[in-house]
Amino acid sequence: MSATGSAQPRLERLKEILAVLADLGHAEQILDWDARVSMPHAGAKARADVAATLAEFSHRRFVTDEVGELLEQLTAEEDPDTADGALVRVTQREWDRERKIPSDLAGEMAQASGVGVAAWDEAKLSSDFAIFRPHLERQLELKHRYLACFPEADDPYDVLLDEYEEGLTTAQVEEVFGRLKGELVELVERHRDDAVADLKGPFPIAAQREAGRLVLEAFGWDPRSWRLDETPHPFASKPGAGDIRLTTHTDERDITSLFSTMHEFGHGVYEFDIDRSFARTPLGEGTSSAIHESQSRTWENLVGRSAGFWRWFYPQLQGLLPEALGGVDESSFVRAVSAVRPGLIRGDADEVTYGLHIILRFELERELLAGTVEVHDLPDVWNARMREYLSVDVPDDAHGVLQDMHWSAGLFGYFPTYQLGNVISVQIWRRAVDELGDLEEQFARGEFTVLREWLREQIYRHGSRYAPPELLRRVTGSGIDPEPYLEYLHAKFA
Ligand code: ZN
Repeated sequence: MSATGSAQPRLERLKEILAVLADLGHAEQILDWDARVSMPHAGAKARADVAATLAEFSHRRFVTDEVGELLEQLTAEEDPDTADGALVRVTQREWDRERKIPSDLAGEMAQASGVGVAAWDEAKLSSDFAIFRPHLERQLELKHRYLACFPEADDPYDVLLDEYEEGLTTAQVEEVFGRLKGELVELVERHRDDAVADLKGPFPIAAQREAGRLVLEAFGWDPRSWRLDETPHPFASKPGAGDIRLTTHTDERDITSLFSTMHEFGHGVYEFDIDRSFARTPLGEGTSSAIHESQSRTWENLVGRSAGFWRWFYPQLQGLLPEALGGVDESSFVRAVSAVRPGLIRGDADEVTYGLHIILRFELERELLAGTVEVHDLPDVWNARMREYLSVDVPDDAHGVLQDMHWSAGLFGYFPTYQLGNVISVQIWRRAVDELGDLEEQFARGEFTVLREWLREQIYRHGSRYAPPELLRRVTGSGIDPEPYLEYLHAKFA
């Protein structure tokens, strides 16, 4: 009897296969989390081998004729407007893409990513681009082999974007970024010399951790399901439903850890609040990178840098950091944590300069892929463009081209989703304020449940049921639109 026969309902059979693949994916998440949180550095090569084996095994298990036949039959049978119909659609889309890629290439990419991240780590520590260069060249070579599997694409970069953001095209990114770039450069120039006093530390680590804990509790994290660890580069991970892991980076010279904790909470709460019936299926994760980032930015910036939030939390933070903040009044503090300060590091950038860091990466990775910028020239080109867009001088590669891990892991096409997330966050925020009224007044009372519930209802619970353009249209009635974001920036930094 054939596995696709009627004895076992086809949908059940598909879900059974997908559950095994989801479990393998969760195992990969745990390996990745461990590699970034607690693995000794010298374990990187062995870990890359494990990741490659898992990736190749999962790939082979997924791209079978059996899955293809099940999908073909189910596409005809399932109502596309139901959750099961969405599951078939999302799985078909992934199957079509993965089927074009040889399984050994999937394994090679996972291997190169593990080894590349470890080399990048070392290169960054010693600020030595030469250590990283062969790994970046290897990633580009793999990326060209990957793109050769999609000869029908109008623009090869579309293939990369589509992996993170269904339906997004290079032309669309160029249009949005084209609209933003001039405005952002002008805003940066206008605010470059704003007289905003920097906060003066030290800010003791234990007090910062306590502040992070208080904020997470107020946002509604559940200690039975969440944990928070320290890593040099903060991230959020979900190795399974009900298991949400955030990391932050606490440094006593600044208080950025509080903002990265709120940022990662946004990623975590999106994953946590997904309908549990979607667990162990491709619907059981956030629908796209940009929608995900819109939520991390919502909690970090629209909530965490709002006047209302600080009306509630500043007295508590002052109590925790009396020496550093005792003499700083609330409005000076709120200005200090939002001020426009052109700097070197994307992760530390304010809301205005951030977009320029992303536009620079979007341009450079397209030039690297097209071969119009050579890897050995990359540090010089990077530094020249930082000067052009932000008027800052890059002192060394650790603070320049080596600051982000993405390219070491082969993540090309990912950076644009960060800035699109900023844009989308304001579109969704406007809708929330229209429906919920004065949110800042609630924040000032330490009340965040109404916002979180609204976001859960509108976005989080749906997981990947709706493709990102459809989700955005359902929530805001519009496609990606940079105007609300620009209006927000102009109003905030008037
Ligand atoms: Zn993020």
